[in-house]
Amino acid sequence: MYYESTRGGIRNITSAEAIKRGLAPDGGLFVPETAVKLTPEEIYSLADMDYRERAVFILRRFLDDYTDEELAECVIGAYGSGKFDEDRVAPVVKLNDNAYILELWHGPTCAFKDVALQILPRLLVKANRKTRENAETVILVATSGDTGKAALEGFKDVEGTRIIVFFPEKGVSQVQKMQMVTQEGRNVYSVAVRGNFDDTQNGVKAIFSDKELAGRMLENGYKFSSANSINWGRLVPQIVYYFSAYADLLAAGEIKAGEAINFTVPTGNFGNILAAWYARDMGLPINKLICASNDNNVLTEFINTGLYNREREFRKTISPSMDILISSNLERLLFELTEHDGEQVLDWMTELKNEGKYMVFGEVKRKLSEMYWAAYTTEHETLETIRDVYEDYEYLLDTHTAVGVDVYDKYVISTGDMTKTVIVSTASPFKFNESVARAIFGDETVAGKNEFQLLDLLAEQCGLDIPAGLDGLSDKAVLHESICSRDGMKEQVIRILGLK
Ligand SMILES: *Cc1c(COP(=O)(O)O)cnc(C)c1O
Repeated sequence: MYYESTRGGIRNITSAEAIKRGLAPDGGLFVPETAVKLTPEEIYSLADMDYRERAVFILRRFLDDYTDEELAECVIGAYGSGKFDEDRVAPVVKLNDNAYILELWHGPTCAFKDVALQILPRLLVKANRKTRENAETVILVATSGDTGKAALEGFKDVEGTRIIVFFPEKGVSQVQKMQMVTQEGRNVYSVAVRGNFDDTQNGVKAIFSDKELAGRMLENGYKFSSANSINWGRLVPQIVYYFSAYADLLAAGEIKAGEAINFTVPTGNFGNILAAWYARDMGLPINKLICASNDNNVLTEFINTGLYNREREFRKTISPSMDILISSNLERLLFELTEHDGEQVLDWMTELKNEGKYMVFGEVKRKLSEMYWAAYTTEHETLETIRDVYEDYEYLLDTHTAVGVDVYDKYVISTGDMTKTVIVSTASPFKFNESVARAIFGDETVAGKNEFQLLDLLAEQCGLDIPAGLDGLSDKAVLHESICSRDGMKEQVIRILGLK
């Protein structure tokens, strides 16, 4: 199976090459040239497998230039015993007769990005070997908080790689910042940027497309790659847990073989919910994909009207990992929905860049509203949902997952659809503890306490253990103190790598 760019400029790329490059040279994203399809029997057979077996089963269909042994090694390295604090890796919890929660935050950094970022470095190292790459890989990451730490953890001390993470100085929580600035490892760097996430992401994109810098890197024995969710090696491991959730429901007798279910996904860069689209396209019985946004509701408008308009105020919210106005992975969906029309996608992306918006019509819009349903959640509703769900079910939601639950409620009220629905839970409630504590205990109890005291409070009052990745964080030594302007990111790369 080969990969091509969403902008039509490149084809016949192996998966190893696509993973190594991250972004396609024409600025597009890599997608499979041909669709992968599973038979119903293959899908049902997953019910008898554990998560690791399911992962190999799905991955080998997309990464067919890797041997089964190589994939098994990567999977065991990422999801083997002790890596996640839950042996099932991505357990499904039943909330009520219709709603289930897929917990994706049992990895080392307590957010769902671990699922992909624990395995990506392993896939990348093998990709380098397969493509006889001699240059050292430099991973550049722009993060709204969770990706950065998850990438640092994933790449820490991985042979032949270095990683530089840029995060918006004021756009991440105390816990997220502490996680990044205390990161250990001999090949890891984190740098704060004076700007928001889109500024940071644009800065990284500019560095990636800087030809002069690329030449200089090569002379110094380095090569850039990306661990952002634009890398196919990030996306493909995320397809696995949609199948896994279905297989778990089937194994538990919650659904019948072939029964369609919905997924609700708290969405930012559109990676997670795009993986769900691929699962659906492969044959997983999915009725609706429910796209949940916060006040940065670009995607709600897009799915409901066909207009993608980033020309709006950027809102800082209590679900910061979804504070995004340009959802990069949407480009892949557009490419798929236009039957791989790279010229059309390039036109839209050019309009987005120059005019800040584009509009889809006709067949693309029709397919979009057939598969997707979208709504958004206000700050107030997010807190209310956390409180209500805790009162009703004694189940603690983080802010992002609360957006998912609230949008699911809106979906049911609006459509009356009682199809069983899995709500994707993207972070541990401990990771965004300030808002969670405020929702449950009220402003007064929370006032004057820092996030680290609130971790203790939540654990005590709710009878839960603080996850290992967050415990003792405030006592760790700060190892990374760099800060730069939006225009200073390239200089930081040059300095860190000591480029001549
Ligand atoms: C990254 C992230 C999201 C958004 O996921 P996308 O794949 O970017 O849509 C949602 N919630 C949390 C906690 C995240 O870290």
